[in-house]
Amino acid sequence: MGFVAVGKELGSQSPQSWGLTQWLQRGDHADMGWMADSRRLNILQVMPEAQSLISLALNYYTPHPQPTQPVYGKIARYARGRDYHRVMEKRLKLFARWLEEQQEGILTRYYVDSGPIQEKPWAERAGLGWIGKNGNLITRQFGSWVVLGEVITNGTLTPDNPHNAHCGTCTRCISACPTQAIRAVDRSMSSPKAFAVDANRCIAYHTIENRAEQLPSALIPHLNGWIAGCDICQEVCPWNQRFAQPTDIEEFQPYPSNLSPSLHELSNLTDHDWNIRFPASALRRIKPAMFRRNAKAVMTTRP
Ligand code: SF4
Ligand code: SF4
Repeated sequence: MGFVAVGKELGSQSPQSWGLTQWLQRGDHADMGWMADSRRLNILQVMPEAQSLISLALNYYTPHPQPTQPVYGKIARYARGRDYHRVMEKRLKLFARWLEEQQEGILTRYYVDSGPIQEKPWAERAGLGWIGKNGNLITRQFGSWVVLGEVITNGTLTPDNPHNAHCGTCTRCISACPTQAIRAVDRSMSSPKAFAVDANRCIAYHTIENRAEQLPSALIPHLNGWIAGCDICQEVCPWNQRFAQPTDIEEFQPYPSNLSPSLHELSNLTDHDWNIRFPASALRRIKPAMFRRNAKAVMTTRP
């Protein structure tokens, strides 16, 4: 958990905002129009009374390996168990209530990937970790296998120091990305984001967010079995290999059906099956037709 004082430093001219603005201008957000919500550039537009933001991270890592047999697909680790929104939200709600009880007049709002909040830059500014070249927030305690949440409040807190970046000269994630989605961006501006992920090329974006009937043909040969998300750039990260620890949050344990999902079954998934198979799951973001599309696409790459 880290605190940051809300102020001009994170207004529209901040390095964090510059990184987002440039990312949007390059079109790296693909069709994720909600990323362009102007409130994302200024937290005071989300909560005018805000004085402090508390950034929180939960470790979701579970060590179960991804399936290697060609008849199965791969689901990103964060999505194999209970929906992280629910897991985090429950805790944020309790924490926010507790905070409000500490002093009369304290107001709070909480978010977990549920509002126009730049989660990762805030977490970096609050000292939880740094944004790696692969675009993930990397913590020293758990690597990047964390989900983030925020509580914004009108209460004043003493801010923590921002976290320094520790990618150094490492380029493992860049080399490992099968679609070259991680690219160097203009370094001439004073931005902490010298690398950025282009969603147009990213398997995670296409398998989860792209609603088109077909995946881009150039992407399909590089799916590497991923039908929901992609963890390649996290799996190769030395910080994850060194610091990953199994989570003690029971709700993040994978549902058995998400460990080795049959491509054949998913390629024929009905709306009814989808509803039963993915209860309280972040995977509900992937609609039945998208699961069928993703599974069929992976099957075309398999012998
Ligand atoms: S999630 Fe996969 S496709 Fe996207 S940047 Fe990482 S390795 Fe590349
Ligand atoms: S693989 Fe290397 S460059 Fe990529 S995020 Fe991890 S430490 Fe940074």
